[in-house]
Amino acid sequence: MLTTRTAVITGGSRGIGRAIATEYARQGCDIALVYHGNEEAATEVVRQAQQCGVRAQAYQCDVSDWAATQTTCQRILADFSAVDILVNNAGIVHDNLFMRMSEADIDEVLGVNLKGAMAMTRHLTPTLLKSAHGRVINISSVVGLMGNPGQANYAAAKAGLIGFTKSIAREFASRSVTCNVIAPGFIATDMTAGLPESATEKLTSLVPLKRTGAPEDVAGAAVFLASDQASYITGQVIQVDGGMRM
Ligand code: NDP
Repeated sequence: MLTTRTAVITGGSRGIGRAIATEYARQGCDIALVYHGNEEAATEVVRQAQQCGVRAQAYQCDVSDWAATQTTCQRILADFSAVDILVNNAGIVHDNLFMRMSEADIDEVLGVNLKGAMAMTRHLTPTLLKSAHGRVINISSVVGLMGNPGQANYAAAKAGLIGFTKSIAREFASRSVTCNVIAPGFIATDMTAGLPESATEKLTSLVPLKRTGAPEDVAGAAVFLASDQASYITGQVIQVDGGMRM
């Protein structure tokens, strides 16, 4: 159980972030979720979390905007007093072959997926270091480990998250704050819903477990990493990918 703890989950309005927020709420954890544009979805997640008897609140913020993340983290701390768990999950893709990739494609994907995680962590570091159960969980991707044609910007951001996590894991270890990465494989969410059926079939054929993952598959790992059972695990990359990359 995660009772008496408060978690911040970026991108908590949809997909994997939504599943993590919902599962944390079931475990008794108070929830501050950060979303970008989809207020209706965020409000629905808050409503569901509150039905579990926990405090829940949504905050609109573009995580790639340093000043906006600072203001948002200040608002979260004013509302919740302290934060124990930070899940940096917000992510976007702008896929293209590298020879056609624009500066904006690179800046935006690095901005949300990598700098956004660094910004949120930076602003919440003081409260995380004070927590007796401090956790940073960064959502990367198997693509950050394997590379993927058409996703050079995304793969670079997701690989960057791994180096970032291992560095802060070493810095925060003296305060018993653990920092880990989850690297999902092919998970059925809005992000992957637009793929042509042929691409979905091809990707699924690369998965030994022969199915796409569900957001709840990733949420299970996020609950474990946040729990006391995982207090001796830090600086690790946990793949939730059906065996796609071994
Ligand atoms: P979705 O597209 O379903 O959801 C993305 C979430 O991120 C939404 O809540 C969205 O908010 C939020 N978001 C997007 N941009 C910003 C921003 N600038 N500031 C704040 N929040 C933002 O994605 P998934 O659930 O599929 O992905 C979640 C994470 O998992 C991502 O980091 C992704 O890279 C990673 N991942 C996903 C895989 C998959 O197969 N689906 C595989 C491997 C990794 P809003 O609702 O307001 O738009």
